[in-house]
Amino acid sequence: MVDVVGNLSAARARIEAACARVGRDPGGVELLPISKTHPAALIRDALAAGHRRFGESRPQELARRAEEFAGDDVSWVAVGRVQTNKARLIAEHAAELQSLDSLGLADALERRLAGLGRRLPVLLQVNTSGEAAKAGFAPADVAAAVDALAGHDHLRIDGLMTMAARTDDEAAVRGAFAALRAVRDRLRDAHGGGFDTLSMGMSGDFETAVEEGSTCVRLGTTIFGSRPPVG
Ligand SMILES: *Cc1c(COP(=O)(O)O)cnc(C)c1O
Repeated sequence: MVDVVGNLSAARARIEAACARVGRDPGGVELLPISKTHPAALIRDALAAGHRRFGESRPQELARRAEEFAGDDVSWVAVGRVQTNKARLIAEHAAELQSLDSLGLADALERRLAGLGRRLPVLLQVNTSGEAAKAGFAPADVAAAVDALAGHDHLRIDGLMTMAARTDDEAAVRGAFAALRAVRDRLRDAHGGGFDTLSMGMSGDFETAVEEGSTCVRLGTTIFGSRPPVG
């Protein structure tokens, strides 16, 4: 049995230690459990420990969870790649989309959300590692994307998200997180504030991310144990 409650408090302690190293308030860092592929019983353990937001990477699975937990006070955060033809599932079921990575997806979401009369908080995903396989806007394209989304009244841009490369090269990982913060700081200068959320850090690198300013760490394996590979 996976000790979800113990894992949550151990991860929280590591977040607090990382905050202490750089003089940050740990209250400014959300621990977002990523529940993809894990059994509902483990999600219930986290619910009992007070967690109310969970991340899912596939739109279909997110929609299924939303229906399965419809009677609970829980919301579902989309963190993975969303094909444009899955915009409806996100518009209907997600409380937030952290992985908005194209203007085409933004257009599809805007149409769906307008039809539903819903406003969706989003983060723009930024490819700060430069890996070709990673989704996200190039850092140099983020400002133009924000401008292009100005008329999308049903999307609320709360900040930015990134994924660092999976590598033992700590300097490269730290550099990817620092790059996201730098993009955010330029947006703040241009817009006079805003863009408060920086979603960065996963099980293998979240302490570095917190040291670099993360306000949301997305933890799967650290909380729920290992999972079968997902496509
Ligand atoms: C799966 C996933 C995570 C969590 O990964 P772990 O390494 O298991 O913590 C975080 N972010 C995204 C976008 C994911 O798809």
